[in-house]
Amino acid sequence: MTAHSVNGATGRPRRPVSPLRLPQVVLLFACITLISCATDVTRPLRKYDNATYGDASIELKALATQVFSFWNLHFASYTSHLSGLLDSSDLPIERTRIKSGQVTVHLEVIGAGLATSDLALQAAERLSGLRDAFNEISPFQIRKLRMRMVVVPAGHRYEKTFASIFSGDNISVAFAVRAKSEDSNEVETSIREAIRSFAHEITHVVFATHGITKPHRAPSEINPEEVAAYMVGNCVELHVMGLISKDTHMSDNKVLRDNGLDGPEFFMSSMNSSIEATDALAQLYAKGAPTITADDPRADELFALCRESIDRVVRQRSRITPTD
Ligand SMILES: [Zn+2]
Repeated sequence: MTAHSVNGATGRPRRPVSPLRLPQVVLLFACITLISCATDVTRPLRKYDNATYGDASIELKALATQVFSFWNLHFASYTSHLSGLLDSSDLPIERTRIKSGQVTVHLEVIGAGLATSDLALQAAERLSGLRDAFNEISPFQIRKLRMRMVVVPAGHRYEKTFASIFSGDNISVAFAVRAKSEDSNEVETSIREAIRSFAHEITHVVFATHGITKPHRAPSEINPEEVAAYMVGNCVELHVMGLISKDTHMSDNKVLRDNGLDGPEFFMSSMNSSIEATDALAQLYAKGAPTITADDPRADELFALCRESIDRVVRQRSRITPTD
């Protein structure tokens, strides 16, 4: 991990913790469930741009998806908020397009060094397998998938909302991901996180386009749709990468919550839901090696958990009455 020095931190969480329990940089991922179209996604998150937690600095990645449908036509807005001490807006951008069958990846690499570009290309090639992986797991099929992936260098902040219009089961999404560093282990981790993030948000999009999304009424509680999105992220990762490892699923979110991190309600809801999914994975890892490959019996158990989590959301939706 890359260490940052942080000065003048604002929005410091209330209960600092022992530095022995946290790394120098904690990674905080939140997917935001929007309560209304007027919800300001990024304002409550800016306090984390220079935030520390105990002796660790926080590197936040928050993504938000919102979809409105009119018959078969879908209008989507996708917000990415990546915290960081440095501004990425003045850095050069390299653009590439990769097309494979029904999947197109538009790649935007910010401040691209040679290694970062290579990382981005590897991630984009892996993303090409996301549609097939998703269709294998989900009862809702994607026909064409178009993804715009913005790769942001470590330590830099990035905020942007993309708008997109698409029809039927042809899904189009756009999000930013973090290139952590050029160390080979970090490259692998970055690619895995990119896959999980896109799979997670695409799950929300597909639920929305099928009329299954419902605003969650108690944001501090666990949201079944959030849990399903996190679970699908894990299953797609296993499908696309051929294995998942306990090492890349050590949830900083759990450590942070257990040590009293506070934040906006939508933020805490996402954290709690991610921890629910992490706990399900932990139970699988407890049954054997810290790596699960595609031919491991636990892979089937994981895929079953993913389908169950999707079914739970669908069942919940089927119980909603028009007055809900
Ligand atoms: Zn989410």
